[in-house]
Amino acid sequence: MKIVVIGTGYVGLVQGTCLADSGHTVTCVDIDENKVAMLLRGEIPIYEPGLDELVIRNAKAGRLKFTTDTAKAVAEGAEVVFLAVGTPPGDDGSAELKYLFAAAKTVALSLVEPTVVVTKSTVPVGTGRKLQAIFKETAKQPFFIASNPEFLKEGDAINDFMKPDRIVVGCDSEEAKKALTSMYEPFVRTDNPILMMDIESAELTKYAANAFLATKISFMNELAALADATGADIETVRKGMGFDRRIGHLFLFSGVGYGGSCFPKDVKALAALAKEKKVGNAVLEAVEEVNDAQKKLLAERVVERFGKDLKGKRIALWGIAFKPRTDDIREAPSLEIIDILLAHGATVTATDPVAMPNAKKLLGDKVTFFEDPYAAIEGADALLVVTEWNEFRRPDFARIKKALRTPVLFDGRNVYDPPAMRELGFEYRGIGRR
Ligand code: NAD
Repeated sequence: MKIVVIGTGYVGLVQGTCLADSGHTVTCVDIDENKVAMLLRGEIPIYEPGLDELVIRNAKAGRLKFTTDTAKAVAEGAEVVFLAVGTPPGDDGSAELKYLFAAAKTVALSLVEPTVVVTKSTVPVGTGRKLQAIFKETAKQPFFIASNPEFLKEGDAINDFMKPDRIVVGCDSEEAKKALTSMYEPFVRTDNPILMMDIESAELTKYAANAFLATKISFMNELAALADATGADIETVRKGMGFDRRIGHLFLFSGVGYGGSCFPKDVKALAALAKEKKVGNAVLEAVEEVNDAQKKLLAERVVERFGKDLKGKRIALWGIAFKPRTDDIREAPSLEIIDILLAHGATVTATDPVAMPNAKKLLGDKVTFFEDPYAAIEGADALLVVTEWNEFRRPDFARIKKALRTPVLFDGRNVYDPPAMRELGFEYRGIGRR
């Protein structure tokens, strides 16, 4: 099949590459000239484990191409076009659709054959119908609109694409159904379902899944505060809850709050959609409110411990990415923590295995960055563990203690054992830990 993917970011590049790897001919398009130039040189603009090897192999085989020219890519013939551009939050929290509609208009003008046009981006309910209207007005060829939301997790995106829990397709044409079933069948050989539904339900399913996961996180974070206030231990409570099969173990970890390019904006967008439709959004607003507070928690604990004036204090962060195995720092809790610490006059040092280039672009010399985690804490008054990268889980505690000016450790991911840390002589504080 000839496929065009518009938007070559965390989603589009994985989608395009994995489809090329299953034998299709794929052109990935992006308006970011830098990104495309890098890809043409065989460099990968994002960090995603395993992606570099797949991109290089499929590009070499001639199945994967990159360009900045949407019109040309589509006009060369495309049976399926995926729209995978960003949909960041607008001023009122609703999803900004201007990139999606701009790309859609170019695609509509450039069709040379009947084409299935699929939304991969996360978009509010009703967007598919708006796309249908754009294509109806502009396209000179038959078109078939579908919604195929993406559920991949950054850091494990290839695995998620190759072995999805389920694939959701919203469409109302046999043409779209047939094309997408044929495309995805190789990825669901273990009988995980391709769920066919209407476009509106597919669009809502994506937001529902992300908002529910965010709700679990905020629920656990609120409960962690209660554990702190009552002397219970949230890790013990988590296990006690998780073994209930109706609840399960996943996404019950309390920490520094959720970040990234999906949960924050998707919760906001769903709340905005509910408001627009004049239906209740109390749960969604509470989820967001708890998370906003949670992202500040570690910094507030530093202020509580050392006082409001942090001038002369050196605070070290282990982890900047919003979660391990990604270089994505969009809406990362680390950024909120750093802002507060700097506002109180602290000197901030930080390290991250892969997110430092992105962090340096954003923060410049406001923060001192170190490749070596132990160099980052040398002479620091406190260590804040913000992202639970594997390499931070079992560090050399004696070295940490020696490097720190005061052995204060705020564990934002509950990766260490409180009694063991205290035995080692740390002034340790986790989130909701006894
Ligand atoms: P991203 O910012 O990494 O990539 C989007 C890309 O689209 C950028 O490279 C941008 O230059 C490009 N672009 C914008 N306008 C364009 C145009 N007119 N033509 C061509 N390219 C254009 O974003 P992402 O993280 O890949 O997310 C894309 C969409 O997928 C969003 O709607 C997001 O909510 C959704 N999503 C993301 C994830 C994730 O983990 N990142 C998971 C599921 C769904």
